[in-house]
Amino acid sequence: MALNEKQIAFLKDHIQAERERLLNSFQVDEEKFQLQSEDRADDVDQASAEYERSQMLRFRNRDLFYAKKLLHALEKIEQGEYGMCEECGEDIRFERLKARPTAELCIACKDEAERAESNNFQAKQSKSLGKQVNLAKDLNA
Ligand SMILES: [Zn+2]
Repeated sequence: MALNEKQIAFLKDHIQAERERLLNSFQVDEEKFQLQSEDRADDVDQASAEYERSQMLRFRNRDLFYAKKLLHALEKIEQGEYGMCEECGEDIRFERLKARPTAELCIACKDEAERAESNNFQAKQSKSLGKQVNLAKDLNA
């Protein structure tokens, strides 16, 4: 069953709120980092500032990826394509979208993709690859 107007409006609000929350957090991070840079003069502090900066960027990359997915979802709403599985074209259930408004696959295709991913993972497992795969999984979830 396709989404009705009310459900789409609900999800759109939700997506826009998520985006705003993310954009605000980017702003806060930036301000925080600038304050820290001004405070720190010696080398040790410099190094730990660098470290914090790189940690922050790592989280930010993840958030940016999510922000992009949110934008993509909004575009699909505009184009009337939102809520359709990108793999098989079936409707994605409202309950699923409510929990994960950036979902691009229906449950069946998602399960299929995860199974393929975990087979792939087992085939060429290594410590560093394992981390990447887990991260990719978080992002796609
Ligand atoms: Zn599907």
